[in-house]
Amino acid sequence: MSESSVLQILKRKETDRFQVSYVQNNRSGRREIVLLGKGAGKHRAEHTKVNILDASGKLIESRPIDDQIADFILNHFEARGDTESFSIYQEDLTSGKLNRHRERVAPDAVRHKLTTEEKTFTATGAKLWYHKPVFDKFRDTGFGSIIRATLTNHQVCSSRCQFCSTISRNKKDSVTLDEAIAFIDTLYHEQARINRERFPEYNEAYRKATGSDIRLRGLILSGGGQPNLWPHFAEFVEYLATLDIDLGLITNGFPPKISESTYKHFKWIRISVTPEDASPFYPGGRFDKQYLPETIKHNPDITVGYSYVFGPWTTDDIIQRIATSMDENGFNYCRTLTDCNLSREMQLLAHRELAERLHRLGFVDKAGNPTGRIFHQLKYHGTVAEAEELWDKGQCYLQPYNVFWDTTGHEENGHSYCYACDSVTVLVDSDEDGTVSTSERKFNSSKWGTVKNTDVHRLFSEPVQPFFDPRKICTSCLFMRNNRTVKEILTAPPDAVGPDLTGIDHVNFP
Ligand code: SF4
Repeated sequence: MSESSVLQILKRKETDRFQVSYVQNNRSGRREIVLLGKGAGKHRAEHTKVNILDASGKLIESRPIDDQIADFILNHFEARGDTESFSIYQEDLTSGKLNRHRERVAPDAVRHKLTTEEKTFTATGAKLWYHKPVFDKFRDTGFGSIIRATLTNHQVCSSRCQFCSTISRNKKDSVTLDEAIAFIDTLYHEQARINRERFPEYNEAYRKATGSDIRLRGLILSGGGQPNLWPHFAEFVEYLATLDIDLGLITNGFPPKISESTYKHFKWIRISVTPEDASPFYPGGRFDKQYLPETIKHNPDITVGYSYVFGPWTTDDIIQRIATSMDENGFNYCRTLTDCNLSREMQLLAHRELAERLHRLGFVDKAGNPTGRIFHQLKYHGTVAEAEELWDKGQCYLQPYNVFWDTTGHEENGHSYCYACDSVTVLVDSDEDGTVSTSERKFNSSKWGTVKNTDVHRLFSEPVQPFFDPRKICTSCLFMRNNRTVKEILTAPPDAVGPDLTGIDHVNFP
């Protein structure tokens, strides 16, 4: 069947960034809303269900899309955007009108306890204290130290997740093996040399605390959904294995042509479980039937976890199968969270629902403590007031220690940009009237870029300077807690030691 005979378009709307189509899918027999990005990558997301909420924001049900729902979504798409549109209050649906003044949920209304697992397997900021000498150096000298990096070496992905954070990317953007190696060599060898020569006092203090020169300590290969589809993946990992860097991998699948031994070099691997109809390589549409390398199963030397985004596609069955699959494969954890493209208000409602679902299924207790290896990461957008107070000097505090190199623009320009974090793709604000300024869902170097990949040395060989004012363009930052921890370390007494890190692992991924 050709695509035009499979998808019968019933209604269509054009926005600045998307073609939004209401379609009859003649293969599945379902009605869908299809979002087609207008960017060079032409990425698409297919939505088959929406969350229907009661007046207090509680989930009534996940309902298949029908004519009434499609009309509501298309009529309010400009105000609600490409993510919020798929959570609809029943009252609004019935009246056909958008009530813009809804009750808000405070973070402490969510059943949740911050655990050692959440601190170990996610970047909550707690691990930053382990690296205190690099922040002493920053406070006293103004120079940064890039101890953690994330690379997206290409933009290829075989899935079509509704919540994709880089849906507007160009899949032709990719880097060469030499470019990737040059980037790492700079952060590893050149940075260590500069610290030994120019900052011996801080370098020695860091050596005493951690056994290493100040240089790159933790590296994550991520992006493009499957970093292991990048043609040079195996060779690059072999090169990285010759260095003393802790390696992490974030992927939503395992291409069969990669040797299973390649994965032995990772300290941790996090497998994104996508909505099951979004990944064509899931046999029979089941994530738990996918190919997994034998080297990552029941392997005490590699921490393996699942990551699961809660949304209208979620069923009790999939959460239960995640727990079973962890047991069967000897995996260590599953991190669950909500769609970061939602505004703070809608994201907190979703967090409350996720917490209640995990509680109902017995995966968290009454107080919000996990009962097993599934935990809830309570990550949500910040506010304008927090931004003003936190960044009183107009400087993002992740920039002095963290770099995210994304390849967006590489095809056209022959270079691409570094960023202080990856949450810049999902920053989303909503005003008092409930109108949402949707996330860019791609890396925009003209707003958040710091230096070109070829100039990454400037992040540690020149004094730290703000490349943008986060109070103006990062008010919904997802890493305010990490920013706050850095600020606390910078203003703490010299002999302060920070919180007890007993039991916390993966310290080189702060
Ligand atoms: S979103 Fe937050 S962490 Fe990211 S660049 Fe902006 S201020 Fe920094």
